[in-house]
Amino acid sequence: TGTLFIVPTPIGNLEDITQRAVRVLSEVDVVAAEDTRHSARLMQHLGINPRMLSLHDHNESQRAVQLIAQLQQGHSVALISDAGTPLISDPGYALVSQCRAAGVAVVPLPGACAAITALSAAGLPTDRFRFEGFLPVKAQARQQQLESLLNETATSVYYEAPRRIEDTLQAVVEVLGSDRAVVIAKELTKAFETFFSGSAAQALEWLQADPNHQRGEFVLMIGGQPGADTGISDEAAGLLKALMAELP
Ligand code: SAM
Repeated sequence: TGTLFIVPTPIGNLEDITQRAVRVLSEVDVVAAEDTRHSARLMQHLGINPRMLSLHDHNESQRAVQLIAQLQQGHSVALISDAGTPLISDPGYALVSQCRAAGVAVVPLPGACAAITALSAAGLPTDRFRFEGFLPVKAQARQQQLESLLNETATSVYYEAPRRIEDTLQAVVEVLGSDRAVVIAKELTKAFETFFSGSAAQALEWLQADPNHQRGEFVLMIGGQPGADTGISDEAAGLLKALMAELP
């Protein structure tokens, strides 16, 4: 059978693609792309002209069936998304899980990912982090997601749309307090790449200070809650709680 390659593409700067990725894209029988017109421009820039087929949120399950049939006939396929690493807040999960179930080889290539790029330069702790993709759009669900960070000691990483970044920071201030540490990474790898770091209140102020600050692509990182980590393991904490309940 053929191989499904998972191929990251640049998140802004077109130099951010590996030599291996370019070779794989030029060698496979089919490139499955989220938006073929968008990706055609990248292929043109790379000087290659692969056969492309669309695979997006709305046709992924049917496409997966077709692609697995082709893979089983010995064809090779590369999966790309509009930017960055496929499956990371992007389509591809149905295809990869079905390939795994069908015994088709899945080979990932390392490459650009906005979350990891942002985290690597934010100056927040990176020993433990949680990636949550996009926050829910509805206010109540968003608030609940943020409430789950009240006692979170790890750094949390979100993707956010420009039209929602201000509302989201407002919600961060309301739910997690003005002082919670926040880093906003904007336009990574592009000409106007910017990092803002400060308290949640300062970040909100910064966004409101200039309409340009709200334009572009964002990764929002929220520092852990200082002091939430008691240094006591969950198991010991549970035991302590049970013992305390027995005290007069
Ligand atoms: N698969 C991609 C990856 O590996 O990063 C993410 C795709 S997701 C649909 C797009 C979101 O990623 C954007 O809304 C933004 O939050 C973030 N993003 C992508 N490129 C970015 C960049 N150059 N700078 C900052 N954030 C970026």
